[in-house]
Amino acid sequence: MSSSPSTRPPPHGLHEVVDPSTGAVFTSIESAGLEETDAAIERAHAAYPDWRAVAPADRARLLRRFAAVVDAHVEELAGLEVRNAGHTISQARWEAGNVRDVLDYYAGAPERLSGRQIPVAGGVDVTFKEPLGVVGVIVPWNFPMPIAGWGLGPALAAGNTVVLKPAELTPLTAIRLGELALEAGIPGGVLSVLPGPGSVVGERFVSHPYVRKVCFTGSTRVGQQIMRGAAEQLTRVTLELGGKSANIVFADADLDKAAAAAPMGAFDNAGQDCCARSRILVERPVYDRFLELLEPAVRAVRVGSPGDDATDMGPLISPGQREQVRSFVEGDGVDVAFRGEAPGGDGFWYPPTVVLPHGSDARVWRDEVFGPVVAVLPFDGELEAVAMANDSVYGLSGSIWTRDVGRALRVSRGVEAGNLSVNSHASVRYSTPFGGFKASGLGRELGPDALDSFTDVKNVFISTEG
Ligand code: NAD
Repeated sequence: MSSSPSTRPPPHGLHEVVDPSTGAVFTSIESAGLEETDAAIERAHAAYPDWRAVAPADRARLLRRFAAVVDAHVEELAGLEVRNAGHTISQARWEAGNVRDVLDYYAGAPERLSGRQIPVAGGVDVTFKEPLGVVGVIVPWNFPMPIAGWGLGPALAAGNTVVLKPAELTPLTAIRLGELALEAGIPGGVLSVLPGPGSVVGERFVSHPYVRKVCFTGSTRVGQQIMRGAAEQLTRVTLELGGKSANIVFADADLDKAAAAAPMGAFDNAGQDCCARSRILVERPVYDRFLELLEPAVRAVRVGSPGDDATDMGPLISPGQREQVRSFVEGDGVDVAFRGEAPGGDGFWYPPTVVLPHGSDARVWRDEVFGPVVAVLPFDGELEAVAMANDSVYGLSGSIWTRDVGRALRVSRGVEAGNLSVNSHASVRYSTPFGGFKASGLGRELGPDALDSFTDVKNVFISTEG
């Protein structure tokens, strides 16, 4: 990888990067340590006064230029993600395009970040949305590009500077985005990418007094640890954590459509998706019919080389992840109903798998698998569907399949989750808010809401008394 001195710290240690479709190391990168992290945070702190002072229209122009440079590199970025994360090429192209779109969307923000004028006695009262300072963005390995963009796009638009840490397993696209930012004219120090261990770089984002906000996506366990650490200095946090989302299929739904959509609602990105609809709840009268329709749809999922345009699903990210997934399927209290096929060889492959747990206390029904495994249980009536969907510590997303609009709305209001879809599994649009209820997180990314997470409100009263 080429590296540029103003986005990359000096070498700390070499870190090997593995292609999950072959299991082979294909490159290595320089990993940052504590010293490099502190230096980058200090650079971001020093760059902040000038960046926040850039005129709104100029900051907008720089973000649009950044979006255009990303657009010109979609193929390159997508290719890196295919190699580094095993994402299918069509998915990876969408992901690079999503970074571009997020930058374009938030390029509209600097000129629209309005406060309010509030009627008061004796003067004029106005509010401002002030940037926070240095923002630390911590990214997981499952969606390296989009999640980086969801943090850095609105943070920069609001006038913050950013230090960003990719996951150890998937650093390549984030490093490249840091280089492209410089190429687009974003000043040095405004966005620094620091590949390195969570226990070093990530923890330093939380403990460093110059970092005013940490935007974290990852496991609930690490999210809790970050929130505890952030309490020390009252550092603001946005947390996007795990999920165990319900896909609720009512008897009046278009069953063919619901069954055809269910596999990729669960197996997208090999199921390594916090929004995976990994619990399918089917109303009892159509339970058997739904499984009959689901089986051919699951067997039709094409698992194979992620670089091939026709592939639906690639490998898992690591051998450890595959072991974790296996442990859910091979445990007690689970019957495999049917499964698709996956290649053999040295890659970290696992076939799409449908399981029938013995009850709602089965581990595969309760815990996040983060792999291509979906569990199916029947329910009786709307109230039980909502109660079963809510019987989870998580509340990130979910789907409701029905032709009854009233029921769709009642159930949408009843399910405790941040992102619901009716007759669809789409959860993420750059223009709409995204985030979790309960143990799935705090705060919202994307859409108009994200800007509130990267600003503090300032109230100013101006006396008009003579
Ligand atoms: P993880 O929590 O282990 O790591 C996430 C990131 O945090 C990595 O960059 C890691 O290096 C860093 N990190 C680890 N320990 C740290 C520490 N002590 N302090 C600071 N940073 C630290 O999670 P993962 O295994 O990379 O990702 C999978 C998890 O992410 C799943 O549970 C998944 O549901 C969740 N996820 C959630 C969303 C969402 O939007 N809600 C999106 C994607 C992934």
